[in-house]
Amino acid sequence: MSGVLVLMEQHGGKWNRMSFEALAAGQQLAAKLGTECSAALIGEGAATLASELAGKKLTKVFNVQHALLHTYTSDGYVTALEQLVKQVGPTHVVLPHTYQVRDFAPALATRFRQVLISDVIAVHDGPVFVRQLLQGKLNADYRHAGTGPCFVSVQAGTFRAEAVEAGTATAEDFTPQLEASQIRNKPGEPFREAAQTVDLSAAPLIVSVGRGIGEQENIGIVEELATALGAELAASRPICDNGWLPMERQVGSSGQTVSPKLYLSVGISGAIQHLVGMKGSKTVIAINKDENAPIFEVADYGVVGDLFEIVPALTKAVRAA
Ligand code: FAD
Repeated sequence: MSGVLVLMEQHGGKWNRMSFEALAAGQQLAAKLGTECSAALIGEGAATLASELAGKKLTKVFNVQHALLHTYTSDGYVTALEQLVKQVGPTHVVLPHTYQVRDFAPALATRFRQVLISDVIAVHDGPVFVRQLLQGKLNADYRHAGTGPCFVSVQAGTFRAEAVEAGTATAEDFTPQLEASQIRNKPGEPFREAAQTVDLSAAPLIVSVGRGIGEQENIGIVEELATALGAELAASRPICDNGWLPMERQVGSSGQTVSPKLYLSVGISGAIQHLVGMKGSKTVIAINKDENAPIFEVADYGVVGDLFEIVPALTKAVRAA
């Protein structure tokens, strides 16, 4: 076994944006291991995209094709990719942590009696894979101890797609042996990500809510302020991770990057991963009960106090103005 194989995701000839982040992670891992990196594309539309990888630093690009793979099924993908991984023999298989990957990758790893090290945020020498625990409060280091290939999925926004190294790659078709009887689950594409309906990057006014809000039911008071100001509602990551607001409203390194005229932050501490997404805002106002919260370092105006007193009073004042 040698080399790193990156399984990239596409739908009908369109890349999933996280595929290139996974490719950057795969190349970085290969460089640490002093080995080569290859990539694979699967499903209808893959052939068109394989040629786009010709200018990347990859040993091979595998175009996995079969009529039974035209529509996504986890059984079809697992069976086809198991054959590819057996033929290529990589030490590591890297995937983007997409909804589709969450569906089939654990089963693929199981075919090799391995687990999926999921949602990795960094790779250190060793290799050591870093995952977050307890909503980002702890980082845990994982090492692969098995004898089979190590399967790793990478978290959105943690590796930069721009870091993908240029070079040359040769494309090669791979046709798996597939029978309709091997596919027990019904075809369909339930894991296509929903179309984005909010473009925070274009919003002139944003009111953003963080974990200081405490409970999902309390978000209403911040939403009322946003409505009174005619602003878009945004959030820090824990709010979206909890499912209190949709992911498309997340600001930060793994969310949207915004640059409004006014960014009003409510109960957000100001972690670096949040700041990188909003530091381009023209004016920042922060409400936080902790006067030492890092958000105040980037705020033009700061209010130290309890958001549950300040936000309703502010909404009332805006409505009265
Ligand atoms: P906390 O850090 O818990 O802060 C809550 C704040 O609310 C505190 O400062 C507290 O003083 C204040 N507060 C509490 N009660 C009140 C009250 N009654 N009134 C006023 N203030 C109050 N985070 C993002 O936001 N976006 C990202 O895209 C993102 N991507 C990440 C990517 C990676 C790879 C990693 C490792 C982390 C990422 N994070 C991201 C998470 C980030 O590190 C922080 O954990 C997160 O931003 C913290 O969110 P928060 O400020 O809402 O919560």
